[in-house]
Formats: sequence, structure tokens, C-alpha cells
Amino acid sequence: MSTNIVIVGANGRMGKTITSLVQADPTFTLAGLVDRAECLPNLAVSGCTVGDDLATVLEQTALSQTGKAVVIDFTAPEVSLASARLAARLGHPLVIGTTGLSEAQRDELQDLARQTPIFWASNMSIGVNVLARVLPLLARALGEDYDMEMVELHHNRKKDSPSGTALTLGECLAAARGWHLPDVRCSARDGIIGERPKAQIGIQAIRGGDVVGVHTVYFMGPGERIEVSHQAHSRENFAQGALRVAVWLAGQKAGKLYGMQDMLQEMHI
Ligand code: NAD
Repeated sequence: MSTNIVIVGANGRMGKTITSLVQADPTFTLAGLVDRAECLPNLAVSGCTVGDDLATVLEQTALSQTGKAVVIDFTAPEVSLASARLAARLGHPLVIGTTGLSEAQRDELQDLARQTPIFWASNMSIGVNVLARVLPLLARALGEDYDMEMVELHHNRKKDSPSGTALTLGECLAAARGWHLPDVRCSARDGIIGERPKAQIGIQAIRGGDVVGVHTVYFMGPGERIEVSHQAHSRENFAQGALRVAVWLAGQKAGKLYGMQDMLQEMHI
């Protein structure tokens, strides 16, 4: 049975990558593409409904078999929240990859996820999410003598900083030490700032060129340093992850906001 996919933000970097993977895979049906009105001329795909309004696209699309589509949204926080409100009302599963969501927006997603299966992950790569499991082990094993810092690199068009992935990995590191990331994060050092406090996690962002995404975590202790680095070579990695999530989410029930660890645990990864 093929999975109907509707993509919001279809003209974006991630939207285009997901579209081409869906088109190349017969287990998916490209049912709809949504983006801003001025982007629609770029989105003509035969047999697929295109529009600037998700509600209208879902209404106009003949959804084969289940009558449902999995909506995949890589856009901007307020756009993804609007998609979530609609998906909750109509009962379509929704995969969100957008980063930069506020705590209040994530809380609203938790509420909406009671009505339809919703999944949010700041990074859909399997490698990064396995890293999110390994980093707390390192943090605990090395102990408080080891300072933890992170550097992330992204392309010059990225809008949020630090990256959503850096914040997610930072939250894992903080939790492993019993800290709350907002209380211990330091993302700027300038001037006579004094010694580094023990309860601190530095997260620095570098922007330039077309870097897809690099995250390096440093554990710096007495006389030694461990560096753990993840490098995304292409956006396909995230797009493949989002499609894997879409298939998994179509089989889940509403009730909670799902994340990457829910899927990986079920797959024994
Ligand atoms: P992009 O700017 O290339 O694409 C965003 C698209 O959303 C654009 O085509 C834009 O026109 C569209 N859009 C904006 N407002 C809209 C609206 N009201 N309705 C419909 N479409 C609208 O950005 P991108 O690089 O594709 O990234 C998008 C988001 O995904 C960012 O938040 C980014 O950080 C995140 N991202 C997440 C992952 C992950 O694995 N979770 C990976 C890469 C990027």
C-alpha cells in the first residue's frame, strides 16, 4: 500500500529534496505540494495538487486507499503550527522538521498531538539521533571534571541560531548532568568574562557557504580532550529520515508528540 504524501514548503531546500525522493519511490504517492503563492509556478507536477493553502490542497486531492495523507512540513515555526492545527482538525498525520520553535509552540504541538499523530524532530538523520543517545553516556562516564562545549556550522541562509540540532544535543548533555539547558547555555563570550563556570555548556554557531550541517561536541578534561563530530553530507540524509518517519507515523495513534527516539526505540536502534 502506498503512502500519500503532501509537502508543505515544497519549494524550499528540504521540500525539493523530499519531493524528488517521493517521486522516485513507488511506495509513495505525491499527493500535494504547498508553498507561498509566488513559488507555485516552480511546483508544477502532473497528477499532484499544488496550492498555497494546505486546507484547500487536502480538500482538492483524491487521496487513494486510506483517504489520509501524511503531511510533511519543513517551513517556519508559525507555518508549521498552522499545519498542525489543520492536521489535528482533519485527522491527518503530520511530520514537522522545522526548527526554531519556541517552548510555547512546542507545548501547543503537544496539545494538538492528542487529536492526530504529530512528529517533530530538529534533525531527522539517524546518525544525529544515535549521537543523542551516546552523548549522555559520555557525559556521565567522564564526570564533572570534563567541560562540555559544542560548535555547529551551517550554510549562510540558515535563519535560527544555534541550530535546533545543537539545542537538542545540548539538552541531552545538560540532562545527563542534571541541568536545564537554558540555565547553563553560553552562546557568546566577549570581553573580560572571567573563568568558565563548571555548570556551563558552550554552544557556538558558525555560518557560511553551503555547509549542510556539522555538529562537534568537545569533552575537555585534565590532560585530554574527546571530540565527537557529526557531518551531514547532503540534505538527502534528512529527507530520507523524514520519509522513514512518515511511514512509521502513519501506523501510530494520536496521544503524544512523537520524536525520533520513539521511532528508533521501536526499531531497536
Ligand atoms: P527554505 O527557506 O529553503 O524553505 C522553506 C520553504 O517554506 C520555502 O519554500 C518557503 O517559501 C516556504 N514557506 C514559507 N512560508 C510558507 C507558508 N506560509 N506556506 C507554505 N510554505 C511556506 O528552508 P529549508 O532549508 O528547507 O529549511 C526549512 C526548515 O527545516 C528550517 O526550519 C530548517 O532549520 C529545518 N530543517 C530541519 C531539518 C531536520 O532534519 N529536521 C533539516 C534541514 C532543515
